[in-house]
Amino acid sequence: MNDDVYTLANAGVRSLNPYQAGKPIAELQRELGLQSVVKLASNENPLGPSEAVDEACRQALQDSHRYPDSNGFALKNALADKLQLQPQQITLGCGSNEILDLIARVFLAPGGSAVYSQHAFIVYALAVQASGAEARVVAARDWGHDLTAMAAAVDDSTRLVFLANPNNPTGSWFEHAALAAFMQQIPQQTLVVLDEAYIEYAEDWMNMPDSLALLAQYPNLIITRTFSKAYGLAGLRVGYSLSNVAIADLLNRLRPPFNVNSLALAAAEAALQDQAYIARSREINRQGLQQLTAGLQQLGLSWIPSAGNFISVEMPGPAAEYYQALLRKGVIVRPVEVYQMPEHLRVSIGLTAENEAFLQAMAEIMGPTS
Ligand SMILES: *Cc1c(COP(=O)(O)O)cnc(C)c1O
Repeated sequence: MNDDVYTLANAGVRSLNPYQAGKPIAELQRELGLQSVVKLASNENPLGPSEAVDEACRQALQDSHRYPDSNGFALKNALADKLQLQPQQITLGCGSNEILDLIARVFLAPGGSAVYSQHAFIVYALAVQASGAEARVVAARDWGHDLTAMAAAVDDSTRLVFLANPNNPTGSWFEHAALAAFMQQIPQQTLVVLDEAYIEYAEDWMNMPDSLALLAQYPNLIITRTFSKAYGLAGLRVGYSLSNVAIADLLNRLRPPFNVNSLALAAAEAALQDQAYIARSREINRQGLQQLTAGLQQLGLSWIPSAGNFISVEMPGPAAEYYQALLRKGVIVRPVEVYQMPEHLRVSIGLTAENEAFLQAMAEIMGPTS
């Protein structure tokens, strides 16, 4: 029975491999008996949560015997205000991961297809595979999305295109003009999912897409964003999508009731108001990126230019060995073999001391250079 039960599962599920998360700090402490561990593995905000979140959660806890507001009225209104959209265009999820999954479940089925890029965030592959739709993986260009080739991969069967901007784990991004040209080529019956999980880290010189302007122009665009990264709430699980009202209505039909808990709702609302925290996070990230890239250069290592709060670094040898060696020194980074990047390790940008710990460990592992 135990083995036979696999044959009973849906074909898409049978062939899935579970998502591999970054190694938790406590796990490495248990395994190696280490006290001090630095985790730069999951692109979390190294600042810790905003103080406003602390207070909001304390208050929300008082009502934790009640179900949360399943419609997320207050948070949706706060977001709608900030983004100048209608609340009916917003769908809340248990992380944007849940939203990505909902989108796939609403629009994909066997016979349909979905397009995404090589090296793109792996949740797209998982969601497409589970749905039984055909995955069209388009070769990357300079580690980034080849939007021209992606548009060419779309045909009548294509229900979804997933774009990550910036992409995780490469950090690559595309500019407004490129996305505008792309949208023009995509037929109405193909929805474009623009995953902006790291958009708060964007710098002006990057010419990131004005995605909200494109949303007003293209009813087949869905933007997803999250409170997990710059907003510092990865553990509470809140993300959202922005779309036209009809798409939001469809997502809402499949969305599990109470998918965002009351602490998460309160925390996200508070975090949204604390723009000083976002400014601080951006500044820490900017400094950390400089510190890391300067250190990597000294070590003679190269990296992929990144618009996120992480960088993928090319190792001098098999990345898996460097990953293990770093673990033994109490530094957790992220191997990205499953992204077809066996030579890279993804390193989240941490606080100064954390970045230093990574650079120091790398220097020790690489040994004296002549
Ligand atoms: C982290 C991440 C997400 C989703 O994170 P949630 O915590 O589920 O909101 C989505 N897309 C990309 C590219 C990410 O790196």
